[in-house]
Amino acid sequence: MINNSPDLASTSVSTLPSLAIVVPCFNEEEVLKLTVDVLSAKLAQLIESHKINEHSYIYFVDDGSSDNTWALIDDFSCNHQLIRGIKLSRNKGHQLALLAGLFSTNEDMVISIDADLQDDTDVIDQMVDRYGSGDDIVYGVRSTRDTDSKFKRLTAESYYSLLDKMGVEIVYNHADFRLMSKRAINSLREFPESNVFLRGLIPQLGFRSSIVSYSRLARQAGETKYPVSKMLKLAWEGVTSFSVMPLRLITSMGLIVSLISLSLTFWVLYLKIFTQSAIPGWSSILLPILFIGGVQLISLGIIGEYIAKIFTETKARPKYIIEKKTYK
Ligand code: UDP
Ligand code: MG
Repeated sequence: MINNSPDLASTSVSTLPSLAIVVPCFNEEEVLKLTVDVLSAKLAQLIESHKINEHSYIYFVDDGSSDNTWALIDDFSCNHQLIRGIKLSRNKGHQLALLAGLFSTNEDMVISIDADLQDDTDVIDQMVDRYGSGDDIVYGVRSTRDTDSKFKRLTAESYYSLLDKMGVEIVYNHADFRLMSKRAINSLREFPESNVFLRGLIPQLGFRSSIVSYSRLARQAGETKYPVSKMLKLAWEGVTSFSVMPLRLITSMGLIVSLISLSLTFWVLYLKIFTQSAIPGWSSILLPILFIGGVQLISLGIIGEYIAKIFTETKARPKYIIEKKTYK
């Protein structure tokens, strides 16, 4: 129950932390109403149980949707005190939309969650409790992913272990459902990079952190906004933003190929000198050339990817542009 006594109310507002729940949305008109219902009930319950203060709110980030998402957010914000939103000028992708939300709110703690309610909102209570006991970052980790397709589960899990092998520090089976304290977000502001892979960046911040696990549910409405192309882009971002292992692999590959061709040369010379037999056929010449040509092109491509990254970073363009807000 919210206390109506002015003195006590002001004490509780000043001592209780404020919470913003950041929700990136791209063409989410089908699920938005349900998201608002579920999250505002959760927020109201947290306020009533005096875990957070009444200045807390839900913060929708419309990532340049082409459907009615913004109109709905605008409408909800007029009717619900707990709802605010911003609209990005164009689609910038999940990671940047999330970042726009984290950087535009200024509360004691921020929880990021997907709009489709695949992440268990009941875990939010535990996250808030962990913040209360001194954690700056609380990672939501999926204990089961039964509702994800077999393909998604397999690719995601092998990707996590690949990143781990490449020396990228990430939390296994954690996506972007997490709580961050104000000081953790302020430290994140100091990372100027525009190629953003939050799952890799946030463990770099340090601070006291912990994990809460939950079962991943099915998307409540609408279709995935992460087609394979966007998934691959994010996966590649994760590797090239945090690991130079692909470049090292090229060097090792080059060394191995050179050693093989050197030994072949010795073998051919040996045949020529001691057995007088020439190697018949042109395929034995052409195939290695094609193979090495392919390896070189792939290697150049990988080096090019890193150079492209330097190129986009040096331009230091704004990561996103906020077109509208539902509040002053
Ligand atoms: N999303 C976004 N911009 C995009 C793609 C996705 O803001 O370009 C949001 C989307 O609205 C959702 C979250 O990112 O809130 C995760 O997307 P989705 O649930 O479709 O991904 P999946 O769970 O299928 O991987
Ligand atoms: Mg989803």
